[in-house]
Parts: sequence; C-alpha cells; structure tokens
Amino acid sequence: MSWLKRTRKGLKDTSKTSRKEIPDGLWLKCPTCSEILFRQELDKNLWVCASCKFHHRVDAHRYMDFLLDEGSFEETHRGLVSKDPLNFQVGKDKYAEKTKLAQAKTDLEDAVVTGLGTVGGHPVSLAVMDFRFMGGSMGSVVGEKIARAIRDAIDKRRSLIIVSQSGGARMQESILSLMQMAKTSAMLGRLREAGLPYISILTHPTTGGVTASFAMLGDLIVAEPKALIGFAGPRVIQQTINAELPPGFQTSEFLLEHGMVDAVVNRKNLRNFLATSLRFFTGGRAQADSLDSSGEGFRPGAAAQGQGGSAGESPSLFRARAAVAGGGSSDDSA
Ligand SMILES: [Zn+2]
Repeated sequence: MSWLKRTRKGLKDTSKTSRKEIPDGLWLKCPTCSEILFRQELDKNLWVCASCKFHHRVDAHRYMDFLLDEGSFEETHRGLVSKDPLNFQVGKDKYAEKTKLAQAKTDLEDAVVTGLGTVGGHPVSLAVMDFRFMGGSMGSVVGEKIARAIRDAIDKRRSLIIVSQSGGARMQESILSLMQMAKTSAMLGRLREAGLPYISILTHPTTGGVTASFAMLGDLIVAEPKALIGFAGPRVIQQTINAELPPGFQTSEFLLEHGMVDAVVNRKNLRNFLATSLRFFTGGRAQADSLDSSGEGFRPGAAAQGQGGSAGESPSLFRARAAVAGGGSSDDSA
C-alpha cells in the first residue's frame, strides 16, 4: 500500500511545489479579430480590443465605473431574488438550481444592478444589466428592479440611464418574464409624464424582449460600436423571410444608418457624451442646479431627501462644467 500512499514524512511533494504556476485567464482571445490580448492591458483600455475596437462585455459593476463619477455610486434594491413560481424544470435542469449557481458565479442576485449616482455631476438613477447572470435574461426580478430604478428617477427627480445587455426575456419564467416588458414600458410612460430624460445604452448583445421594451424607448438611444442589437436572431429572420440579409445587419452601425439608434459612441467617450447629453436635456445646467428652485435638488450643505449624501456636490458639478467646457466630445469613430 505504501506504493500508493506516502507513509514517510518529510519528503518533498514535487507534484505540488515544483509545478510552474500559470495564473488563470491572464490572456484571452478577441472573439472578433482572434488577437490574443493581455487581460490587464484590456482592462486598462476599458475592455476595448486595441486591434479591432471590439467592445468586450464587462460586468455590471465595472460598467458603472466607466459611467459614474468616482465614489458617487450607491446601490439600491438589493435583496430581490427569483421565487421560481412555475417550478420550472427541463430534464434535470431545475430553474431554482440554475439561479443559485448563477448567483454563486457572479456574486449578484439577478441579472441587473440598480443604483443612484452622478454622471459629470448630473444625478441619475441607473440600472446596468449583467450578461454573466443567465445571459442577462429578463425575469421578474430584472423587470421589478428596472421598474424601481425608473420610480427612483421619478421620486427623486433624476435622469434615468439603463445599460442593456441581454439575451431577452427569461424563458424559465414564461409569461411572468414577458409581463416585465409591459411593466417597464408603463413605468417609462410615467417618467415621460414627469418630464425626466431617459438615456438607453445598448451594449453587445441587446436582443429579444429587452429590445422589444425599455431598451428601445430611450429619449436618446446610444449604442456601443459593433454591438449586436435586434429582436430575433439573424438566422431566424433569414429563415422566416427567406431572403438574404444585408451585410452588417443588426449591428449598431447598421441601426444608426437606419434611424433606430441616435448615436454610436466609443466606451472611452461615453461618460463625456452622457454628461453633455444630460446637460442638454436638463436645460443647459446641471440638473441639481435646476432643481434648487423646487427645493428638491442637492446643494452643498442641504442634503436632499433619499440621496444619502453620496451625490457629489460642488466638486462634481465643477467637473461637469469642465468636461462640457473641454468639449465633451462625442467622437463616434469606431
Ligand atoms: Zn479584436
């Protein structure tokens, strides 16, 4: 037995110590140009491929870092998890177990993160989807959190930003997930009645029920370069209409050309673009300024209700003006 089991102590275990450690996932292959990319370098470049400019998917919290003023983020509506009311199961695949696995893998409760923050000093209510969580699919939790983020925007008189990244409605929740399309759209109707702007950001990929509801209802619809945006996939459409699809079909650039999106903006320019747009929507002033007259906005030393004191005050307002004065460029080149 001693051949198989090490009985004597003090011998060096070569199987563990002498093997060279190769950190997991140091490099990755770009899915569009096949270039091998150094992960750290890619991170520095906001996850945009240096060779083909493909905008890689990033998780929700990382994406918020791209958009929001530093330290302004405050997460909202935690603690919502799916209940699996249909006891959904395909073969051995139980929905409840799949959800738990996704939660463990992503450290998220569901496929969207919501919160409050500022962009160039403009207070916003924000929802960012996360594709890692079951393909960013929209179930009842995603729908509810997005609806609540919209309600926050209305209650706190803030602009709304939603970053979409989704394979569509979550089939494991059947009709309950489809109902989220109506719910979020209805809430956006209330936002519109309240006269508050909504900027929708479409990232790769934005498809299905998400495209068919809140993603395409923005006052301003911005897409990242080369993102796949559509309702049904190209293969399904091709088979249905039995015709050749034009080149570049369902990409951001194609949709821009055909009037479905308003701008295609590089990730590195996105924050400036948003700050400039929010400035436009809120009448040339940072929104907080315009709210002062109604007594709801934040002022240095006058904490606004529900803002938790985290919204940047004069420094971030100053930054907003500086960004705008510095020509908050909207260089769309891919
Ligand atoms: Zn590439």
